[in-house]
Amino acid sequence: MYEELLIEEQGFSWSLSRESLFAFCPRAYFYHYYGSRGGFEQFSGAELLYQLKHIRSLDLWLNSICTAVLREFFYDNPENFNIRRAASRYFRDGMRSVSLREWRDDPRRLNLFEACYGEAAINELEESGAKLLGKYIDSLTESGLTDYLAGIPYLKRKIFSFPVSADIDGIRVWLSPALVWEEDGLLKFLTLSGAAPTERKMRDAGTLHKIYAFNVMRIKPEHAVTLNFDLSSGETRTVPDEEINIGEFIGRIKNSSYEMLYLLTEDSAIEGNFIKNSENCPKCRFKKYCERRFIFT
Ligand code: SF4
Repeated sequence: MYEELLIEEQGFSWSLSRESLFAFCPRAYFYHYYGSRGGFEQFSGAELLYQLKHIRSLDLWLNSICTAVLREFFYDNPENFNIRRAASRYFRDGMRSVSLREWRDDPRRLNLFEACYGEAAINELEESGAKLLGKYIDSLTESGLTDYLAGIPYLKRKIFSFPVSADIDGIRVWLSPALVWEEDGLLKFLTLSGAAPTERKMRDAGTLHKIYAFNVMRIKPEHAVTLNFDLSSGETRTVPDEEINIGEFIGRIKNSSYEMLYLLTEDSAIEGNFIKNSENCPKCRFKKYCERRFIFT
């Protein structure tokens, strides 16, 4: 039997990660956005999905640590802030939580994909994670990025509570740049990636930032620029304006939202309407759940 869940959509939210999960596997999308609802409560029946929803890969987690420490450095501006020490503290606390399996009592605590699916032992993850994080922090500091950011006057730094959202024709669109500031008459957005991002990923983020600048901050799109910092190589890249097509991107958001909403019935989401994309099972957070359902249903 497939699950049928009543839904209470308060307006539809769209994000690049939502679109990407839907493309990865519509069934995984169902589990993430509908099936896991209420799973933080014991005996809800959705506890496993809720746990799996919160799993992260090592690389994504390290990227989020770099984002967190860079934000503290840039916005809180504490005296003598030591990025390396702050990152190590996040890393140690996270690994400690993973080894104690704290996610069993609170699924929002860190759980790593590689550990959950037996791809690596926790001590191996600790060793490789510490090395990789060290490399990322070296990139941030040795590339000159942190010195450059430190020189931006405090009043030019745009403080938000991340993630932020913009309304696009009734669709709430979410985005989460690492930092935003004003410089030389431009609004600059910084994103971080663990490896060289694809051209498409950079273009998508750059376009979203321009839309946000215009819709929310009333800043002309041509005055908004996105810089991507590659944590692996220490290189910063930007997307030329000529490669950005805002009208086309808005059309894409509408089409993609339509495709997702089309699978809902009037007031419910039915699991069977969200087809499986079995090609992606090896890389999927939900395979533990999905395999069980495949066996028992
Ligand atoms: S395990 Fe496979 S079929 Fe199931 S949700 Fe994940 S990708 Fe989709």
